[in-house]
Amino acid sequence: MASATATVPPTTVQRLPVYLRCLIQAQAMRMPVVNSVQIAEMAGTNAAQVRKDLSYLGEFGTRGVGYDVESLITHLSRRLGIAEQRRVAIVGYGRLGSALQGYHGFDERGMKVVAVFDADPAKVGGSADGLTIEHVDRLESVIEREQVEIAVLTVPGPAARAVADRVVAAGVRAIMNFAPVRLIVPDDVTVRQADMAAELQILAFHLNPSEAMG
Ligand code: NAD
Repeated sequence: MASATATVPPTTVQRLPVYLRCLIQAQAMRMPVVNSVQIAEMAGTNAAQVRKDLSYLGEFGTRGVGYDVESLITHLSRRLGIAEQRRVAIVGYGRLGSALQGYHGFDERGMKVVAVFDADPAKVGGSADGLTIEHVDRLESVIEREQVEIAVLTVPGPAARAVADRVVAAGVRAIMNFAPVRLIVPDDVTVRQADMAAELQILAFHLNPSEAMG
């Protein structure tokens, strides 16, 4: 059993949002308690893995009974740092940025989009699903005003590095980068690189007859 203060391994951290989503489903189904087998079925993993992962959060399950859904949701949310909604800015209100901004599922996953930026004068001042599109020239002041914690970069590749430098200088410590360039950031800044094309290439790799044969 890992202690509640143990460092959570990165592979476990990747599974925690999945468990949280499953628990929210269980809550919607009015299940007061779930066991590790039920969580594993919903999450597509095995019960031993679930128990091990959740043990990093402390001692919440009751042997033979399971986990109290409400309190596990609270603990997972707290550990994931989304007990209160995280404030997100989208930089680049093009095809992808507008699609993300229009997605209403972020709210229930602990994220709130509070600012949207673009460099195109034809877009600036317009409405982005209830928010006013700000000019990227105002990035620093709006980030400060809106207390942005996470920046989502959906700008073209050539613009991404300069934008990332500015959001970091403005105090943002977490970046989701959709642009196909590697960002160089200080050690205390976390970057997640979203690369759908690479994901598709992995699928293509598995379609290769030689790989399919194992
Ligand atoms: P797009 O051209 O439709 O939108 C880009 C937007 O960024 C435009 O509105 C443009 O005015 C704005 N922009 C340009 N420079 C800017 C700057 N300096 N500051 C603020 N805004 C600026 O492009 P898209 O199709 O939405 O793609 C956006 C980015 O996402 C690209 O880098 C693309 O390669 C990437 N992308 C990644 C994935 C993925 O899976 N990772 C998928 C699709 C697109």
